[in-house]
Amino acid sequence: AGSVVEEPPLHVVHVAVEMAPICKVGGLGDVVTSLGRAVQDQGHQVEVILPRYDFFQASPLLGGTSYETEFDYGGTKVFVTTCMVEGLRCFFIEPRNGMFSGAVYQGNNDAGRFDFFSRAALEFLLRSGRQPDILHCHDWSTADVAKAYWTEYQSYGLWKPNVVFTIHNMDFGATKLGEAAHHSQRFTTVSPSYAFEIGGHPAIAPNAGKLWGVRNGIDIDIWDPETDIFLPRGYTPDTVVEGKAAAREELRKRVNLNGWGDKPMVGVVSRLTKQKGTHLIAHSVFRTIDRGGQFVLLGSAPDPKIQGEFDALKNSYGGQDAAFCFAYDEPLSHLIYAACDIILVPSMFEPCGLTQLIAMRYGAIPVVRQTGGLKDTVFDVDNDKSRAAWELEGSTDWVADNVDATNGFSFEGTDDGALDYALNRALDAYYNDRAWFHSLQKRVMLQDWSWNKPAHDYIELYYAALKS
Ligand code: ADP
Repeated sequence: AGSVVEEPPLHVVHVAVEMAPICKVGGLGDVVTSLGRAVQDQGHQVEVILPRYDFFQASPLLGGTSYETEFDYGGTKVFVTTCMVEGLRCFFIEPRNGMFSGAVYQGNNDAGRFDFFSRAALEFLLRSGRQPDILHCHDWSTADVAKAYWTEYQSYGLWKPNVVFTIHNMDFGATKLGEAAHHSQRFTTVSPSYAFEIGGHPAIAPNAGKLWGVRNGIDIDIWDPETDIFLPRGYTPDTVVEGKAAAREELRKRVNLNGWGDKPMVGVVSRLTKQKGTHLIAHSVFRTIDRGGQFVLLGSAPDPKIQGEFDALKNSYGGQDAAFCFAYDEPLSHLIYAACDIILVPSMFEPCGLTQLIAMRYGAIPVVRQTGGLKDTVFDVDNDKSRAAWELEGSTDWVADNVDATNGFSFEGTDDGALDYALNRALDAYYNDRAWFHSLQKRVMLQDWSWNKPAHDYIELYYAALKS
């Protein structure tokens, strides 16, 4: 890596349809912002091109938006405005044809809307004379940038960029993902294990040699229990017990849980889709209450059938020991991470997963299904000691008696019994050895899940893309 530092700084332009906090739907939105910031912090120039959604009008963060340019494209007038968001220069593409008047994702015509946006973003770069080193596009929604750039723009004046493409979820738009993989100089997915899992997919396999797995980080300024304005009191690894007790009291009031008793708090913060293991989430409500704990869920289901199942669950279990919040609520999510002793992530597949990383930053012990990025970041206290020492501490001492970097509980199967294996051990630890449980909370808070290391990996990848 020593030679990398000598290279000239890069100009990186992200083209994406999500960005936290102004238009975030899931982890993709978080990555654009926090990866962008981390790379910029290393001395590179980073810009982001996004659609200009009508709901931006209501955003207090975008009050300083100003006019950049306009041009005719695709039978309509396209306006470009600009604003700083979280320290990043953003450009908003606004076609005057109503394409971005509603939610980020709308179903039916999304491919048409986002293909138009991807090309309009290239058109903006061409017309404004920008020549970034790297165009970084994300998922099926801006996959078209890679192909359109090489087939329609590279030989017509926008000559300089190379393309990097990141797959945040292989489950949507495989054909488009494959095309972008083909037209990228390097492409990535968001964890090494997920890279291994998707490497054999027919859309990926022909280009698997260009695929890197770089795990996501979290923005440790946004997720900081010491300074978090959504908590009743800040806390550090040394004050985790007091800080979490205060947060628990506040949460119990906020969501109407029984306010007394020394009960472990188990939480889920998630989109409620099959991917997230909704059947196991449902079972965990039963198991948590059965074991004398309290349960809190924050999430909502895009699919009415799944929402119906959770409504029924709320009817059966909701009350003094289980709270169900069917909403998207960023401030409440902070309070839940802080208040919970255990955060559950029982995904059927998980490209990286951010919830378990945020949980650890807040001293909540992750209980996860061992898949994708969950496998790369959560190391079972009983089963993964040498793997954790190797991955997190760089220890080659496979006995690793003196290094314990394990940080959670995991399971492999997909049935209730598999989940119970991990959840019961976590609850046993809470009940039977509180001092050890607290020391585990402190340990996970001290682990580094920031973007520091992954940002270096991306920068290395960007330089590799330039040389390919
Ligand atoms: P995915 O991108 O598949 O949804 P990730 O774990 O990568 O899953 O990212 C989820 C992010 O969204 C986390 O930051 C999590 O805290 C947040 N999140 C999920 N559901 C909600 C919700 N209902 N309210 C607030 N934040 C949520």
